[in-house]
Amino acid sequence: MRLVLLGAPGAGKGTQAVNLSQKLKVPHISTGDIFRYNIRNGTPLGKMAKEYIDKGGLVPDEVTIGIVKDRLAQKDCSNGFILDGFPRTIPQAESLDSVLLDMGVNLDYAVDIFVPDTEIIRRLSGRRVCPACGMTYHIHFEPPEKDGACNGCGAALIQRDDDREATVLNRLETYHRQTEPLIGYYKAKGRLLVVDGQGKIDETTVKLLKVLGIK
Ligand code: ADP
Ligand code: AMP
Repeated sequence: MRLVLLGAPGAGKGTQAVNLSQKLKVPHISTGDIFRYNIRNGTPLGKMAKEYIDKGGLVPDEVTIGIVKDRLAQKDCSNGFILDGFPRTIPQAESLDSVLLDMGVNLDYAVDIFVPDTEIIRRLSGRRVCPACGMTYHIHFEPPEKDGACNGCGAALIQRDDDREATVLNRLETYHRQTEPLIGYYKAKGRLLVVDGQGKIDETTVKLLKVLGIK
């Protein structure tokens, strides 16, 4: 299955993508994770992306599109993929369409995980991530088994720099201005599915599997 997960920052795209990727046996591709990997490793791409990420804006389309094109050309994407955090602009969505056309495949669905802004702010302020393996937690809603440590690899959990309040507000503004129009874009193409993401993590997983027709 070829899927795009839409939704505001903090809606639960990454959390749900981990489950879906295991279930569907297709890779989970997060452009945010790719940028953070490059930032951690001090690459030129990481240095450039950090300028935009720290302000709550978007990395320029030409950079992001190139990264996704290369990633989708890899062998593990031949049976499908879950894109998390891409596309985030109309030009990115148009480029994705043309990449898929060149590959001779179709996008199955773009799923919008809907969560209102007030709840987004609660989620992002409590989000903690593992800098080693990328697993995501929440201090109240999805706490690790051992305080402050990753369940999988034991590394000390951190707060993302861009999850601090001032940046979160900018990211939400960026989302509404640049990314929300994608809901209409995919609706017009007959590819849009909407899932209410306000419930518990497991409840959202059940709803997602249901709309996607996955047992
Ligand atoms: P996104 O990938 O859309 O930015 P995440 O999956 O990282 O969002 O989720 C944001 C934060 O909210 C994380 O701390 C995560 O543990 C938490 N979270 C995700 N889904 C839910 C949910 N349904 N209820 C409560 N908290 C959630
Ligand atoms: P995320 O982990 O998806 O919340 O992404 C973190 C940050 O990386 C975003 O706030 C953007 O600055 C940048 N980013 C991630 N994906 C994209 C994208 N598709 N286009 C532009 N910038 C992106």
